[in-house]
Formats: sequence, C-alpha cells, structure tokens
Amino acid sequence: MNFLPDQYDSDNRLDVKHNYLTEQFEDFEEIFAKMKEIVVRGDFTLGREVDELELEFAKSQGAKFAIAVGSGTDAIRLSLRVAGVNSGDEVITSPYTFFATIGAIVDIGAIPVFVDSLGDGNIDPHKIEKAITSKTKAIVPIHWAGRPAEMDEISDIANTYKLKIIEDSCHATLATYKGRSTGTLGDLGAFSFHPLKNINIWGDGGIITTNNEDYAIQLKIMRSHGLEDRNTCIFYGVNSRLDTIQAVVARHMLKKLPSITSARRKNAKLLDQELSKSTHIQTIKRSDYLEEAYHLYWFKHHEREKLVQFLRSNGVDAKVHYPKPMHLQPAFKSYIRGTNIFPIAEELASQTVSLPIHEFVSENQLGRMTDLIKDYVK
Ligand SMILES: *Cc1c(COP(=O)(O)O)cnc(C)c1O
Repeated sequence: MNFLPDQYDSDNRLDVKHNYLTEQFEDFEEIFAKMKEIVVRGDFTLGREVDELELEFAKSQGAKFAIAVGSGTDAIRLSLRVAGVNSGDEVITSPYTFFATIGAIVDIGAIPVFVDSLGDGNIDPHKIEKAITSKTKAIVPIHWAGRPAEMDEISDIANTYKLKIIEDSCHATLATYKGRSTGTLGDLGAFSFHPLKNINIWGDGGIITTNNEDYAIQLKIMRSHGLEDRNTCIFYGVNSRLDTIQAVVARHMLKKLPSITSARRKNAKLLDQELSKSTHIQTIKRSDYLEEAYHLYWFKHHEREKLVQFLRSNGVDAKVHYPKPMHLQPAFKSYIRGTNIFPIAEELASQTVSLPIHEFVSENQLGRMTDLIKDYVK
C-alpha cells in the first residue's frame, strides 16, 4: 500500500505549495561537501557532527542540553521513559494533534488521557485537573502549529500534583512563551527534523532538550542500546541515534532557522491582517506574550471542505491539519477514559484550513490567497 506518489503528483500541479524542499535545498552542494568529509572519515554513528549539533541546538533553544535521536516520535517516547513514565501510567494530552504524540505514549505502555483544546488548538489548562487520577504521571502539551501552550497554568498543575511535563515541541522551534523558549518550559522538550518541519533534514530525525543533566546523561545511554561503554549495558535502551550525515543537514538548517522563522512570522502577520478583515472566517487571536514559530498557518471556516476545494482548484495548496482528532481514530478508541466528548477539538478538526506559509511563499502569492478567500466567503 503506497498512496503517497498520488498525493505528490496532484500537489505538483498547484502553484502555491506546502512542499518547498527543492527551493530550500538549492545549496545542496554545500551539504554534500560536508557529507563527503564524513564519508572519508568513516564517521557514521554519532561522532563530532552530532555532538556539535547538540551543543548548537541547545544554545539556539536556550536549553542546557540537547540529545539527538532518530525521530520526533522517539524524542517524545524516550523523554517519557526517562521522566519515569511506565507501563500502565496515565499521560494527559490533547486529542487535537498528530498521531505521533499519542503513538509515543502508547508505545511505552502508558495510557493517553485526553483533555479538550482551547480555540487556538492547544490543551485547555482549566480542564486538566479533572483528568488527573492516582495513575497520572505526566502531561504532554503540544505547542500546536508552533504556538506555545499556556505553560504557566500547566506548570502550576504539574507542580501541585508532582507530574512531569514533556513538551511536544515538534512544531515549535524558536518559539517563546513570556520570553522563554519552548523545550525549556517543562522537564523535557521533543523536536522533530522531519522534512516538512521548520528545521528539516533529508529523512527522519529528532532532538530532545532538557535542563536536567541526569536526564541528558540517561538519554544518551538510552538512545544507544543502554550502553554505558562498549561492553556494559546498564538498562535496556533502544537504537535511536540521529544519523551522522543527517546531523550535517540539521546543522546547515539550524543556521538558517532564524531567517526561516522570521519569514514565517512576517507571512503570518500579513495573512492575519488580511484575513481578520472578513467576518466569515475566524483567525487566531494572537497574544503578545507569545512568539510563535508558525509551523502551520490556519484559520477556521464553517464550510471548510468547499473552501479547500475552491482554493485547490485555484492553484493554492490549502490543506487540513487534521480532519479527525485522536479520540475518534480507530487506533485510540479503546483508550478513552471517562468522557469522550471533546467539542472544541472536534470543531477545530471540522473547520480548520491551513495555508502555505513557508519562506518561499511570495508577498504576491500571499495577496492572491487572501483575495481568493475573502472573495469566496463574502
Ligand atoms: C511531526 C510530529 C511529531 C513526530 O515527529 P516525527 O519526526 O515525524 O516522528 C510529533 N508530534 C507532532 C505534533 C508532530 O507534528
């Protein structure tokens, strides 16, 4: 079963695209040259490139430590493990997310407990307390679309009930909450380097941030079979190392991340400005204490399907992230504890539309998108 080629084919006919990898890696020769050095050195697992990346990434996110792993999903999975979440423990999170957040929780044998969203797509902190039981061990807030969750409220609850916080920061590189970076607001932060995330590599990869040295040491051991040294396994780990050649791409992209992020912010501002003029669509109310990463730009419209079709037939790669929240997915149905009614998450899932917002979308294209939308919804 492979449905992806179809999807890419149809996307290629659009002229304002979500996928921008060809433009983004036009300077691939520079990356190849670096990779060549690694091949010549025979440096294929961990090594200097990974060490350097970890130092640079930690610095860019304002964290003390960063540990590179095989994917964003593994970043969440291993963070949960190192935070002491075990089989049978409950983990509070939001049903409005990408499958990986929940997959990571389920994979370690823990039970996801859902709490409804706020209108901005992030977990509603006021509904968390009711979901806590004696089995609750952690909260996994997702900084959805690159907009930081309400971390002060979440941290207060975590402190009161002695819960760990693992931030799903896969959308949120360089985002800040009251001046502090995502990935440093909880106990651990999980980031993804997937090709369509804001910092992207040529395959899968991820990284964990933490200010806790003990966690950092444990994670470095855990990602490499639990080996303390070549011949000593001190606990059962996994094989989840970021490939050394991918660390080259990640370092290359990390240098560009500030300009990528400011381009996204500028584009979002323009889209907000134009789209908020229409009373028929709902944009997100921005908060001045948040600096968002704008991994996605989305708004709500009550006749979403028709609008998406209209935009696509006019060459705009409008998408839906995502049409079905986690509590309605066949895979996770059996995990629902207590209420399974999450009206806000369901409303978001049925009304959300995302537009391309990356650094290669031109001002002209932004204008064309907003004109099309405003005309259509009138
Ligand atoms: C992409 C993503 C992940 C997982 O990242 P991978 O690198 O694809 O494993 C986790 N959570 C969210 C919200 C994501 O968008």
